Amino acid sequence: MELMTRVWPAAIARVREEVAEMQVLADTEKLGVKIEPWDYRYYAEKVRAAKYDLDMNEVKGYMQLENLREGMFWAAGQLFGFAFEEVKGLPVAHPDIRIWEVKGRGGEHVGLWYFDPYARPGKRSGAWMNSYRDQRTYGGRVTTIVSNNSNFVKGAPGEPVLISWDDANTLFHEFGHALHGLCSAVTYPSLSGTNVPRDYVEFPSQVLEHWLPTPEVLNRFALHHRTGKPMPAELAARIERASTFRQGFEVTEYLSSALIDMKLHLAGDADIDPRAFEKDELVKLGMPRELPMRHRTPQFQHIFSGDGYSAGYYSYLWSEVIALDAFEAFTEAGGPYDKALARRLQDTVMSVGNTLDPAQQYRNFRGREPDVKAYLRDKGFPTT
Ligand SMILES: [Zn+2]
Repeated sequence: MELMTRVWPAAIARVREEVAEMQVLADTEKLGVKIEPWDYRYYAEKVRAAKYDLDMNEVKGYMQLENLREGMFWAAGQLFGFAFEEVKGLPVAHPDIRIWEVKGRGGEHVGLWYFDPYARPGKRSGAWMNSYRDQRTYGGRVTTIVSNNSNFVKGAPGEPVLISWDDANTLFHEFGHALHGLCSAVTYPSLSGTNVPRDYVEFPSQVLEHWLPTPEVLNRFALHHRTGKPMPAELAARIERASTFRQGFEVTEYLSSALIDMKLHLAGDADIDPRAFEKDELVKLGMPRELPMRHRTPQFQHIFSGDGYSAGYYSYLWSEVIALDAFEAFTEAGGPYDKALARRLQDTVMSVGNTLDPAQQYRNFRGREPDVKAYLRDKGFPTT
């Protein structure tokens, strides 16, 4: 609650700015429009076009799947000393699936990484990481087998597969989960790799997303599929600027649901009329009238779908706060490829699984508790 109530005022302050910006635009159209909830996305899109001037198709020309995979390997090499070598002849569930052997700093075998990138009938949608076998030393050394899976449309033979900027982010995200598994160096498989609490497991994956936009990766791997030239720095800067677009809306929409979820939990055994409860609490929060909660109470899985999920919607925010605060440690040090800090991330977080209280893991890495300020800055929120 403390975390959410720190972010909330900044988020709704940003909503007020966004609404004001949209209202100015609407006024120039002289149609007598006052921004209502159903206008938000429409006018936000007009603001985006006028202010950020970013054609995502232009970006896509630089986002070749195979190059980005090489970029992830390169970043993992810089950060954690991993080397990847494709291996053939191992059993796979489908011929599209490829396998890489992962080796550590001393050339030792670390594990296998399966890559299953393409959509096909019967395959689950979305993108995810799996651990087929968890690392352990109990009863003898066993290395991990992890996989990254997505649903890209396979290109024609010889044609590169181009993916969106968002999908490239997701690729790095899921690879972060895989690295969490590959870095694992614990005794028991049940405490290994990604077997950590729900509000912590997204930290390693979210933090890894931040290496995609580094010039080191973009200059080497974001190469245009026709010209072979790297993405211009000016385009990368425009992507960065556009990342704060409509974040007031996004965060407020999400956070209002997370707050109601937690307030219902904190209400204990009290007899609750969900409709009245939701309405009263939103008034108390000062919910902006221009947008609704992302999930209203009756269709909100996090409230009703069992103990693993209930009162857990805050966890996305928590992981993001930790990830941004952690990445800022690199900015404060020698930059995203600071060797000593990467080593510390590996030793204190990536390799310890659930053998240590996550709060202690983080303190061991950062020397303090996570601070919400990096998150507020990243979202472009007013921080005063
Ligand atoms: Zn994730």
